[in-house]
Amino acid sequence: MKKPFLTLAKAREIMQTYPTPFHIYDERGIRENARALNAAFGWNPGFKEYFAVKATPTPGILKLLREEGCGVDCSSLTELMMAKRCGFSGHEIMFSSNETPAEEFELAAELGAVINLDDLTHVEFLHRVLGRVPETVCCRFNPGGVFTLGESKEGFQVMDNPGEAKYGMTRPQLAQAFARLKELGAKRFGIHAFLASNTISNEYYPALARLLFQTAADVAKETGCHVAFINLSGGVGVPYRPDQSANDIAVIGEGVRKAYEEILVPAGMGDTAVYTELGRFMLAPFGHLVTTAVHEKHIYKEYIGVDACAANLMRPAIYGAYHHITVLGKEDAPCSRVYDVVGSLCENSDKFAIDRALPEIEVGDVLAIHDTGAHGFSMGYNYNGKLRSAELLLREDGSVELLRRAETPEDYFATLVW
Ligand SMILES: *Cc1c(COP(=O)(O)O)cnc(C)c1O
Repeated sequence: MKKPFLTLAKAREIMQTYPTPFHIYDERGIRENARALNAAFGWNPGFKEYFAVKATPTPGILKLLREEGCGVDCSSLTELMMAKRCGFSGHEIMFSSNETPAEEFELAAELGAVINLDDLTHVEFLHRVLGRVPETVCCRFNPGGVFTLGESKEGFQVMDNPGEAKYGMTRPQLAQAFARLKELGAKRFGIHAFLASNTISNEYYPALARLLFQTAADVAKETGCHVAFINLSGGVGVPYRPDQSANDIAVIGEGVRKAYEEILVPAGMGDTAVYTELGRFMLAPFGHLVTTAVHEKHIYKEYIGVDACAANLMRPAIYGAYHHITVLGKEDAPCSRVYDVVGSLCENSDKFAIDRALPEIEVGDVLAIHDTGAHGFSMGYNYNGKLRSAELLLREDGSVELLRRAETPEDYFATLVW
């Protein structure tokens, strides 16, 4: 069963200062999870997690992850600027973008970030923009086709479609890019690939690692380039549904080690660093969107209206994504009702839950929407003039820190010309 990291009493205490809706993150959970990841890959001396900033672009979170040894993965100008202001520099920053504007490559180079090139044509583009290529450079690989691991024991399938994805280079282009970059002065090379999203399987990373390790060994031989690191990117998932079981990062780390020892070590590449670029796995379970029930409505279905809406969390509206809901203080009450839990947007997709069995909800009840720590606040928008909420951090000592204040109408009007 999914348990919130917040009690009703704590939520009510917080609401005296910060009214709902708000996003809140759990410092203890974030730190413990980051340590488990670092331990799982402790066998690899060069290991580093580059947290995908787009998942939770909040300085208070990025600094906390930096204390746990993480770097950041940026993909836009403002993400690079935020990384810099949080104290990240040099190889603590990975820059993985696509359709990249020149000024973004310039800032990435100025910060000394590791640039991950999405396409073969970006080699010449980067060279033209910078007048050189960096000594350390990464290329994004797309093997095409369909990537599948078959069904996991719980019956959830891992399948994605790299052949339909706009990212990365083909295998021949990868070797071509390496050869050209080497000619232009690059010395240390990396290979990156992102093949499947939100995988609930301990097999995803090991299977991806096998593919990338073999590719690295082959490309190194073909081009004479020194492959210094392999970036396994994101994609390790979290169990959004209560019937899914969580990935075991220790098992995943061991699976990658096995592939490393079978492929890279015999190829004489036992000094290759392994990088990850996780977003969801690092943060999703450690965030709640906390919202108050403000209306109930009885028509053809039973509705509970809450003070958050899809502008605070759009995954259900755009992907039909499941987010578990706990009615705080009613954790042990029977789920005797079936509700649609809805926000106030003039869009019928603004539903956090559809036909969800929940305890009886009264107006004034406080709901925790689970697994909103990644791709939650960050995907927010201002549709219907809705304002972005505050983001809070529940400290390990139980205190609460404001990471980002809620938007005001003045913020919303600030860019307008009257
Ligand atoms: C989104 C993204 C990630 C993080 O993905 P998660 O599914 O959140 O782990 C990592 N790398 C790149 C390049 C991305 O675009």
